[in-house]
Amino acid sequence: MADKVREPLVKTEARRAFLALCSHKTRLFHDPVFDPYVADGHPNPSGLGEAARFSQTGSWGQSSVLFSTLATYRNADECGKAPYGGAEYGIPQTPEADAVCRKIADLHNGHGAVICPSGLAAIAATLDAFSPKAVLIPDHVYGPMIRFLNRRHIAQIRYPAGASAEEFRSALLTARRAYPKREDLIVYIEAPGSGTFEIPDIEGIIRLAQETKLRTVMDNTWASHVRFKPLEYGVDLVVQATTKYEGGYGDTPSGVVVAKHPQDLQRIADELRATGNGAVAPTTCMRLFHRIDSAEERLNQHAGTAQRLIDWFLQQPFVAGVLSPVLADSPYHERFQQYFGQGNGLFSVVFRPDVPVKNIEAFVDALNLFWVAESWGGHLSLVLPVHAKREVSPLPEGYIVRFHAGLEDYQDLLRDLNQAAECLINK
Ligand SMILES: *Cc1c(COP(=O)(O)O)cnc(C)c1O
Repeated sequence: MADKVREPLVKTEARRAFLALCSHKTRLFHDPVFDPYVADGHPNPSGLGEAARFSQTGSWGQSSVLFSTLATYRNADECGKAPYGGAEYGIPQTPEADAVCRKIADLHNGHGAVICPSGLAAIAATLDAFSPKAVLIPDHVYGPMIRFLNRRHIAQIRYPAGASAEEFRSALLTARRAYPKREDLIVYIEAPGSGTFEIPDIEGIIRLAQETKLRTVMDNTWASHVRFKPLEYGVDLVVQATTKYEGGYGDTPSGVVVAKHPQDLQRIADELRATGNGAVAPTTCMRLFHRIDSAEERLNQHAGTAQRLIDWFLQQPFVAGVLSPVLADSPYHERFQQYFGQGNGLFSVVFRPDVPVKNIEAFVDALNLFWVAESWGGHLSLVLPVHAKREVSPLPEGYIVRFHAGLEDYQDLLRDLNQAAECLINK
């Protein structure tokens, strides 16, 4: 193993000094300031504030399910303890998993749902269940999805980020020529796109997929059930990383698949039972079950804070633009209003091409409340460079950094941005 690069102690001291001037609420999330490498970068669970209550409850999840007689053991599947079978064994699906799946399926008006140990696992289980030869994917698709498709040797036909129905149609024609059999091809939608937040003509894509009787899968992680319900627009299967907004504090690694049709759901449940990939700890399911109830409130706060941070960035001389469909001058604003209505904590800043990269990186490193981290949707504000790869649509020019506005007080976040910006303005 390579030597760990330890965060300089001076940064820990700077964070501590900065936090001393923050509001009680902000401190609740970040206190105690710790050297993140002591715990290999994992945030201290005591920083979860109110959410800690739901982090400590739930059963431990036993692998055994107990029966007092052979007869009841033999009838376990039929007596309905687990909706997709496997009721005699605790690993495939626990009562806690059933409860959270029912709740999420209900929120999406779906027939039912399954839960997986991560968002990526939910995507993988869905594609494995139908084993297509090829998928139509947007150019801005969530990066690890490509790695999965390559590993499975599933061919990829790309349509542009933020595609119009016409643009999608031409990719669809190409795909249909190569893969004329319905079962060989899946239409995959993700909106808004990862890192750059383009929004395609979702309704147009669904209509064209339905005309050709192709199955549609939508990654709805950005929106969560709060902002968008794809099944109501005619999508067949929704996948969502519930690691993000449903859980909300980064401590519910999980993903769900919600199906409109009973036969689709059964096929994915069978896949999970065959592979054992549906095992999610009951504690995680319980947290998720409770946190879903506050998702809308949290999302509204994330969105409100993000808007204030965006307003700040747009006034800075070093900023070329901000990528967010929330903005009235975004080319995707109309579709944003049509489908989502309100934003979340995410946006990306495009720095002016004449700003030296080392200054931009010094700005990021000077931040005290924004941690450099992957994933998003939790209570902590985060920052990460965007390394989007494109094949059929252009990428904005300039260094792009994605921000996630957490649940801290926005005044503290603005104060942090202002102090870090000295790296950019005075040098
Ligand atoms: C994070 C994310 C996923 C994967 O979720 P994990 O739980 O991290 O595996 C999938 N899709 C999108 C759009 C995401 O942002």
